[in-house]
Amino acid sequence: MHRRLIIIGSGPAGYTAAIYSARANLEPLVIAGSQSGGQLMITSEVENYPGFPEGIQGPELMERFRKQAERFGAQILDEDVTKVDFSSRPFRIFTEREEHSADAVIVATGASAKWLGLPSELRLRGKGVSACATCDAFFFRGKDVVVVGGGDTAMEEALFLTKFANHVTVVHRRDRLRASKIMQEKAQSNTKISFLWNHVVDEVLGSNQVEGVIVRNVLDGKTSEIKCQGLFVAIGHEPATSLFRGQLEIDERGYIKVMDGTKTNVSGVFVAGDVHDYKYRQAVTAAGFGCQAALDAEKYLEEYSPESSGMLKITARKESLDKISESQTH
Ligand SMILES: Cc1cc2nc3c(=O)[nH]c(=O)nc-3n(C[C@H](O)[C@H](O)[C@H](O)COP(=O)(O)OP(=O)(O)OC[C@H]3O[C@@H](n4cnc5c(N)ncnc54)[C@H](O)[C@@H]3O)c2cc1C
Repeated sequence: MHRRLIIIGSGPAGYTAAIYSARANLEPLVIAGSQSGGQLMITSEVENYPGFPEGIQGPELMERFRKQAERFGAQILDEDVTKVDFSSRPFRIFTEREEHSADAVIVATGASAKWLGLPSELRLRGKGVSACATCDAFFFRGKDVVVVGGGDTAMEEALFLTKFANHVTVVHRRDRLRASKIMQEKAQSNTKISFLWNHVVDEVLGSNQVEGVIVRNVLDGKTSEIKCQGLFVAIGHEPATSLFRGQLEIDERGYIKVMDGTKTNVSGVFVAGDVHDYKYRQAVTAAGFGCQAALDAEKYLEEYSPESSGMLKITARKESLDKISESQTH
């Protein structure tokens, strides 16, 4: 089935792109993924999304995004994209069951936080275990929290948490931080932050709410308990970009490279949200990028003519191959 626009992903970025492009009569197809709704489906209260003064549950917010996109005629398919071919026009997008083609594509496949992988961590997610201080620090006013990690993100999370928490313990598996010098200095000079070197978290304690963590010294294997009410896992994010390797330019951290606005290196393929944004990673910024990508795609489609797609086909393939080989030689 051919579409003018296909949107891959159904988090705040994908659904916002769907709302804008459906209202512009582009009749988009959203290939939502088998777990539609994105990262907010695994959170409870969202208190910082504008328009909801009392806060809203993450899954309910995403259900509202979806209904709004459907109201304007976006078609939504709850399947995963398994392969894409952006080397010629129209672009081809494959799921397990079918092949689709489109004149323009918006990639909004998001990212996911890396977790420690402990059963107790999973059980207490949203009950004191978090991967986002910007989202959840507010809930830890006057409490003691533990941050796991040693990179810039961990230092940022720890510093942000000091605005609310009573005390922040950074647990790091090595004896020094990976974070940039400036972030290290900021964190180490903050009196609310202390560091526990050469330790890992083995277990999160608490039945319905975090009550502490069991940490293990990696040098001598000894375990001890830290009492705390929150655990922030800050060991990085994994952008969902494996599908696009060899098709789009991807930076050294694994995020899709943006050329100008929301454009990728392939003309007609746009990107929105956490799949390219490693800095802000918020629902409202992802939605903002979704809006921009839809407006950029609309403009592109106004100028796109299928008659010239033979020419575009050659240009797209050349552009894409040139950029990829250029990025691989640098
Ligand atoms: C626990 C938690 C709590 C959070 N709380 C807040 C908060 O309170 N406030 C806030 O502003 N932000 C919060 N965030 C951050 C926020 O959720 C993200 O910034 C936002 O969801 C990013 O939106 P996105 O659309 O870019 O990507 P995502 O939400 O990651 O959505 C990506 C979408 O792409 C789909 N997808 C991936 N691969 C494929 C594929 N191959 N085929 C088809 N579809 C695919 C996925 O199924 C998903 O639907 C939280 C994040 C987490 C993890």
